[in-house]
Amino acid sequence: MINGLRPLKPDARDYQFSKVFGSIDLTTLPDEFSLTALEVKDQKGTDLCTAFAACTLSELQENILLEPTYTFAKGKQLAGEYESWGLDLRLICKAAQKYGFIPADKTKYTIEDDRNVYANWNNWDQSFDILARKHAKEGYFSVGAGYSSLFDAIRAAIWQNRAEKRGVLTGAIWRSSWVSQGIIPKTYEEEGFAHAYTYIGWKKINGETYLIAHLSNGTNIGDKGIFYFPREVVDRENTFGNFTFKDMPLTLENIAIHHTGGYEFNKYASTRNLTVEQLNNAHQLRFNFKSSLGSYIGYNFFITSDGEVFQARSIGEETAAQKGSNLNTISICLAGNFIINPLDNKMVDEPTEEQKKTLVTLLVGLLDGTHSHVIAAGSKITAKLYNIHPHRFFSPTECYGGLPDNWARELVSVVYKERIGILQTLLSLYTKLVELYRSFYQPTLGGSDRECGGYFNLK
Ligand SMILES: [Zn+2]
Repeated sequence: MINGLRPLKPDARDYQFSKVFGSIDLTTLPDEFSLTALEVKDQKGTDLCTAFAACTLSELQENILLEPTYTFAKGKQLAGEYESWGLDLRLICKAAQKYGFIPADKTKYTIEDDRNVYANWNNWDQSFDILARKHAKEGYFSVGAGYSSLFDAIRAAIWQNRAEKRGVLTGAIWRSSWVSQGIIPKTYEEEGFAHAYTYIGWKKINGETYLIAHLSNGTNIGDKGIFYFPREVVDRENTFGNFTFKDMPLTLENIAIHHTGGYEFNKYASTRNLTVEQLNNAHQLRFNFKSSLGSYIGYNFFITSDGEVFQARSIGEETAAQKGSNLNTISICLAGNFIINPLDNKMVDEPTEEQKKTLVTLLVGLLDGTHSHVIAAGSKITAKLYNIHPHRFFSPTECYGGLPDNWARELVSVVYKERIGILQTLLSLYTKLVELYRSFYQPTLGGSDRECGGYFNLK
């Protein structure tokens, strides 16, 4: 018998979903509703049901397959040991919030590997934590309060969050008599094993409403791996906690400026005439990392020397630009080699006036949020003027050559200083208008002349 799910101790610090998002009128719910899970997983003989259920819950929103072994190891890290079996639902939620998930195709281990190797968090190096952050959850909420029945609280939570596609993580003592039937009976044996799974919607069968449970035990059980739970069983059995996630917006904290630099065979060659197509081909050969916009260019933006801006990657999409800062940084590359040639102590190329103008417009739009470029869902720009840096600020490189560190910041500052100037002009005009108004309309019905003079006036 596998006990992958541990009992949950009550914790008053859990955020209640209905307290934050309110309770809804249940008569507004449709008869049937279901989210679509990417796949029915198979955890086989492992104790990873909590991690499998958490991956399924997160996949509903993220629409990519996630790897249970990593998030399980992180739950074990929070528990402080990996040798004992299973986790409780709060710990797996905390792991999803604190660390996150890695895409299944980028994993180091799967459940086919040695359980005590992948469950030991020390065997996952830091690069996985960086990768997982992109899929971390902003928070998790406890579902149950606010309704007379848990069954209704779960339906309401799924419905209220249908736009964000959130199911509910749950668990029960699973009975062996349930396995062959898609519809869970209302009477059954005592004995079973604790198992975590996910509710993804509800369905009417013979006039009665059932919650749709998505399990991680393959498609040979139930209704191709899906089970239907009646109200009585949900209210009685789902006593291991019920949780839902909130997605973490990916914040873009920095803006990195690059130049295209020279060539491997000629460091001091000019690259000012490099085109989008040439850069695309070069990066396809180098990274072969295609963006959601169909480009192979590693940066978010490329500005040619005649001042054309090309968006190669959505803002918030992983870049191939600054090692170690490819998830939280917007990268902008200017065509040109700004390195200083020791022969004449001058930069090989200099940013053109058109490039500078385009760069300023782009930066101001990104900082102000007035840009019209493609931004990935759930991403948010938090970068400020002082977060604009050359590539060399992030990792050891010469990029962007001989330009000073504050070069791009200074270009943008000019715009902001002008804006402040306009504000000051408006303010002094306004003051003059108020004075003019006063000279025409001397108050005559203002009561007495008493006013606070900053001292007690004992008249
Ligand atoms: Zn660079």
